Formats: sequence, C-alpha cells, structure tokens
Amino acid sequence: ILDFLQEFSDPELCKALIGQLVDECDKPFRFMEVCGTHTVAIFRSGLRSLLPDTIVHVSGPGCPVCVTHESEVELYLEMACRRDTITATFGDLMKVPGAGGACLKTAQAEGARIEIVYSPFDALTLARKNPDKKIVFLGIGFETTAPTIAATVKMAREQNIDNFLVLSFHKLVPPALKGLLDDPEIGVDGFLLPGHVSTIIGLEPYRFIASEYGIPGAIAGFDPIDVLKGLLAIVRMHKEGKPAVTNEYRRAVSDKGNPTAVAVMEEVFEQADAQWRGIGIIPGSGLVFRDDWKDFDAAAVLGLVQKPAPPLPGCKCGDVLKGKIRPDECPLFKKRCTPATPVGPCMVSTEGSCAAYFKYHIES
Ligand code: SF4
Repeated sequence: ILDFLQEFSDPELCKALIGQLVDECDKPFRFMEVCGTHTVAIFRSGLRSLLPDTIVHVSGPGCPVCVTHESEVELYLEMACRRDTITATFGDLMKVPGAGGACLKTAQAEGARIEIVYSPFDALTLARKNPDKKIVFLGIGFETTAPTIAATVKMAREQNIDNFLVLSFHKLVPPALKGLLDDPEIGVDGFLLPGHVSTIIGLEPYRFIASEYGIPGAIAGFDPIDVLKGLLAIVRMHKEGKPAVTNEYRRAVSDKGNPTAVAVMEEVFEQADAQWRGIGIIPGSGLVFRDDWKDFDAAAVLGLVQKPAPPLPGCKCGDVLKGKIRPDECPLFKKRCTPATPVGPCMVSTEGSCAAYFKYHIES
C-alpha cells in the first residue's frame, strides 16, 4: 500500500506534469481551491513554488473553522458559558477568537465546561455520563462532517438520549461556489474541487460551474500528482474553451458520491441560508434541523438567538477567504497575528491559509 501511495508523490512524474502545465498554460490562469486540505497539501509539497508564473494559486473558503461567521462564534461562546451545558467540540475551534478576544480556551479557563472530542459519538458518551447537563456538540463543517453528525443524532434518538444537542452551523460547498461566482470582484479561471466533500456529494452538484458560468472544475485528491492532474485538467479545458467538471480523484470519489451518507444528512437536516465570514449570507448554503428533529437543535431547545457581530478589528480573513488578498498582504500577518497569537481564524486553523503561509514561510 505504501508503494502505491508513494506513486502519487513520484518526483519524476511531478516534473513531467509540471512540464506539461508549463507547455499548455500559455496565458495567465488563476485557479482557486476550496478545501483546507488542498491549501495545506499545495504548500507542504512545495508545489506552489514549482508552478509556472502564469498559474496563480488562490485559496478560497475551504476551511470550515475559518468560514464560521463572527455571529456564530459569539453565539457558541455565549452558550458555552451556561451552567446547564457542556460544550463538546473538535479541538480546532478552541482558539478561534470572538470579538472581545475571548475564545473557548479562555472560557474553559474561567470555568466553562468544554470538552474536546474526536467524534460526535464521543459527545453521546458524554451525554450518557452527564444526565443532569445538556451536551451541545458544535456542528461546524462541510458535507464531509454533517452525515456523521446526523447519524449521531439518529443514534441518540434510538437510544433515548434526550440531553444530546447539536448547534448546527454546517455549511455546503456548491452554494458557496455559486456565491463566489456571483461576486464580480472574484476573477477565477478554474476550480480545484474538494476531494473529501466530493466523496459524499459526487460530481453532479458542481456541474453548474461549467454549464452556467463557463468555468472549468476538477475534483482532485491531495497528493502532488493528484493536484497536478486536477490542474492540468482545468488548464486544458480552459485553453480549449470547453469548460466542464471532471473527476480526477477516481480512486476515492465516485461520480455518484455516497448516496447513503447524503440520505442520512438529508433525513435530519434541510438546506437554509447561512452566513459566511467575509462573504455574508449565501442562499441555501447551510443546514438546519428538519422539524421532526428539532428536539436535538441546541438553538431551538436552549432559545439561542444569533445577534449581529462585527468583523474582528484589523483582521482581513474575509478578504483572504474570497481570494481577494494573500495572507501576507494583511497588515497584521506575522506581526500581531501568528499561530501563537492568532487574531483571526485563518491563523488558528491548521487548514487556514494564514497558518499555511506562516508555517511554510510563504511571502510573495
Ligand atoms: Fe486575520 Fe491574522 Fe490572517 Fe490577518 S493574518 S487575515 S489578522 S488571521
């Protein structure tokens, strides 16, 4: 298996693919990836510095922690301080700052019950062990995360666990792409589409990118050969003037996705408008509980109300997430804002562009 996987990082093959890209990309081409794992993969493998000058890489809103809106952060911080709840969360949210600089870590230090879990099923275990508390799992993630959380909700009902709740701030990738394409300021010639999300939703939901907007897209994996294959596919489609959406990650992604996972997700949740940091409200880009499952909805059960929240002072995460600026163009980058002293979520999350720029010493 190791040999098989190493083939996807083979230096000679990479050189050959980069050579093809250089030959075929005869005019400036700006591509966007919308997946935090692609962001990191492109930097870690050194591909970014190997790409020809004509190919410009832009990171989009592919990090779920980063796109969580300021008002959503304020709401879960407020909720975490309640005495009747225990907040269960993945660790990457712990240091995301709210408007006043507070985060889950500081709330925990001040006595809030916050538990880091590695799976939503761990939160169910917490619920069983703490019957006098409401266990609120922070549902933050894309289509990759939502089916597991929906399955956990179903399990809670089957097992009559009535103190397990989810605060659903899930986001959906295809509506976000539509939101970006509708913004006249965002000039993108092609999309490298997210491998993980595509294992769930497949190819179909992306087709509008080509059919309605004339932009090519390719689903790609995370090894250097995967990324280069995806890039070559979109560069070729662009050059030939034949935009389409292709699947260049067939060893993991079926064109049909995972209908079972989608069905579980759609049984529990339905689409609704959602707010994205830096982008604003995107129609149909979030998931809320269906009426039949409202007894697991933390917002409804606890009466939580989302209030407007201002952007973090000085932080340009919104512009970074839309590909309008590079992280090193933010005046706070590497000065006030570092992974040890993050000002915004793009520096907190391991999948954030600012953290990747910092870690891999990228400065243009
Ligand atoms: Fe925000 Fe820091 Fe990134 Fe600037 S460098 S955009 S302050 S996270």
